[in-house]
Amino acid sequence: MLLAHRIRIDATAAQCDYFARAAGTARRVWNWALAEWNRQADCGLRPNAMALKKAFNRIKYSDPDWLDADGKPWLRAIHRDAHAQPFANLAKAWSRYTEQRRAGQPAHAPRFKKKGRSAESFYLANDKFRLEGRSAVLPKVGRVALREALRWAGKIMGASVSREASHWYLAVQVDVPDHLARRRRTGDAVTGVDLGLTSAATLSSGEKIPAPRPLKAALRRLRIRSRRQSRKVEAAKAAAGIVGRIAKGTRLSASKNRTKGALALARLQARIARVRRDFTHKLTTRLCRENQALAIEDLNVRGMLANARLARAIADVGFYEFRRQLTYKSGRYGTQIVLADRWYPSSKLCSGCGTRNGGLALGDRTWTCAGCGVWHDRDVNAAINLQRLATGALAARTALPEASQAVTRGTAAGRAPAGGGEVTPVRHEYGQQDVSGQEENAVHICTRNR
Ligand SMILES: [Zn+2]
Repeated sequence: MLLAHRIRIDATAAQCDYFARAAGTARRVWNWALAEWNRQADCGLRPNAMALKKAFNRIKYSDPDWLDADGKPWLRAIHRDAHAQPFANLAKAWSRYTEQRRAGQPAHAPRFKKKGRSAESFYLANDKFRLEGRSAVLPKVGRVALREALRWAGKIMGASVSREASHWYLAVQVDVPDHLARRRRTGDAVTGVDLGLTSAATLSSGEKIPAPRPLKAALRRLRIRSRRQSRKVEAAKAAAGIVGRIAKGTRLSASKNRTKGALALARLQARIARVRRDFTHKLTTRLCRENQALAIEDLNVRGMLANARLARAIADVGFYEFRRQLTYKSGRYGTQIVLADRWYPSSKLCSGCGTRNGGLALGDRTWTCAGCGVWHDRDVNAAINLQRLATGALAARTALPEASQAVTRGTAAGRAPAGGGEVTPVRHEYGQQDVSGQEENAVHICTRNR
């Protein structure tokens, strides 16, 4: 089973400088390859990543575009994995694009990466670096200090170095043998999970899991800082005499104050992402551990991002991450994930009698069924509908005797939902995982019922 461990690097200034240059190289090579790809495709040729890489290798030490001011090829200072991998990535991006197009999904062709806008990262092949406890030896850089040792035992497949705000991370991909990657489940329940904004998640058992607390305060600060930053951008625009949208290719002169503000904003965004990721990890682990099957909605993440306010947009990114984590953890715990169709009206169906409430508005937190008169909490009702779907999907596939008993719990029609329990996320330092496959944390979340 392929698992990745992302470890923070305690990099020196010189190491940060190399990382930034290597990531910049990867970006420039990607852009070169994409431009060449598009040019060939326009000429009616069939571009191919391997051929492009060969063409690049022929010019990379001689083409004036790739020489520095002294006429020396600056690529020599950067390890070759950083400028070889973009070709493989580009090939992957194109095949993903054609696949999505063929499947009728919304897709966009690979795009050029923009400095300061695109994620900064570069790749390292598995034979080019080694890990020694809490340090790693990287090509051209030497020894770098890591915040923790690699958590997984297994064959190392590769790694990438990437930046988040002012920190660099090493993500190591490891092929962990199944018997070490597998985790024991503590329960065989079937649960529907409704993801929302008022509560981060509502379970079909009636439990409501609130969003992590630090997030609310940070979001408020994020709004303030974003506003401050956009005022600075507006001021720079006014100074440059620009009205309305900035034309493509225009560069505003970078003031020190604006650069500083941008970094402060990026740091805050990174912190929010960390808090959310930590919360999501604990929740998805708990859900996979306690359930043999989970049903969630297949949300149109991209569509939602398009029409969103700030908080909403961040929550939606959370949905995507939530699903990604559930998907890979389900393999480790042997939990089935059932995705409800995007158009399945989980909120609008009465979980008691199946009557559809077409008039349910987005703001309605509770409603009473016209068919059977039951009072519904919107989210709990949706979660129960999702759970039904999972039970149906399970029944259609295999007979699972444990399911029937678990399913009836909390789904009894004709009564108000059990008053939601309050969940307090408990902070734990990430426990070291030993090779015996012991669970990393005994308790991630403690539940207190009121
Ligand atoms: Zn009803």
